[in-house]
Amino acid sequence: MLTLGEGDTPLVQASNIAAQCGVDELWFKLESCNPTGSFKDRGMVVAVAKAIEAGATGIMCASTGNTSASAAAYAAKAGLQSFVIVPGGKIAGGKMAQAIAYGSTILEIEGNFDDALQAARDVTAQTSIALVNSVNPHRIEGQKTAAFEICDQLGDAPDTLAIPVGNAGNITAYWKGFTECAERGLASRHPNMAGFQAAGAAPIVSGAPVADPQTIASAIRIGNPASWKGATAARDESEGLIEAVTDAEIIDAYKLLATREGLFVEPASAAAVAGLMKLHRERRSRGGRAVAILTGHGLKDPDVAMANLTPNVIKCGVSARDIRAALSL
Ligand SMILES: *Cc1c(COP(=O)(O)O)cnc(C)c1O
Repeated sequence: MLTLGEGDTPLVQASNIAAQCGVDELWFKLESCNPTGSFKDRGMVVAVAKAIEAGATGIMCASTGNTSASAAAYAAKAGLQSFVIVPGGKIAGGKMAQAIAYGSTILEIEGNFDDALQAARDVTAQTSIALVNSVNPHRIEGQKTAAFEICDQLGDAPDTLAIPVGNAGNITAYWKGFTECAERGLASRHPNMAGFQAAGAAPIVSGAPVADPQTIASAIRIGNPASWKGATAARDESEGLIEAVTDAEIIDAYKLLATREGLFVEPASAAAVAGLMKLHRERRSRGGRAVAILTGHGLKDPDVAMANLTPNVIKCGVSARDIRAALSL
């Protein structure tokens, strides 16, 4: 038994931006409320428990940041060693701080996420260290529980499920979860899966791996998704879509979520909302009830916030008189 209190995250209804997303009802699944601030904890708790069960001497993952934060936390809790392989200089500050804080051994490589994952696969195949990337099926089993929660929270599956797609484990897991809900009578239908990649890292959209993926949304900066087939199966079986959104569209949604909904998420999470807004602009929305998965917390990546947001700061004196004058109150 292992837990840090993951799962059971809030589902909060949009107050202000549903119309801009072209839907009648918009809900946000706040995966930032997981213990390390992203959905990765749902799958990691299962993967680490199973690694212990199998007698692993440690765990290893490749990561754009959140997988390493999560792996490091659960390893610390379980008293296991963790090794995380990250692309040098490309990890958001908050995520790096987490891996350091939880006491992980960090291997910085010259290369991108896809190179890191290949290295992690090779090392774990040769040793008794368990691989805890989402190619580990226990990760998918843990992550699918979010779909169960949504069906519970809404009383049925939504019409549309909007989700960012990077390595594509999560869209695969949600589709598995919604399929199981429908099979067991916990939902009367399944949602259309609407996956969104960043335009500079959109291999599933273009149909070919991207050698040098680029986007501000580092959590989805992946050129050759491990769960590619799972993602296209989710898209096709649900009669959904997987499309690209630009970094500018991602930042617009990022700002809108924070200023209009009080939700500060990381850029990758904003891609789901950017995608809905794009469908609406192009008059391709399906309306109805949509759920957007807000996969990780805005505090993970303060550098992106400071570089892209315009602070409303007024320098002024310390007295009430100064402040009233500054604000014309
Ligand atoms: C991992 C991650 C994603 C992408 O999920 P995949 O399963 O790799 O497709 C999106 N957003 C955040 C915040 C993540 O940490």
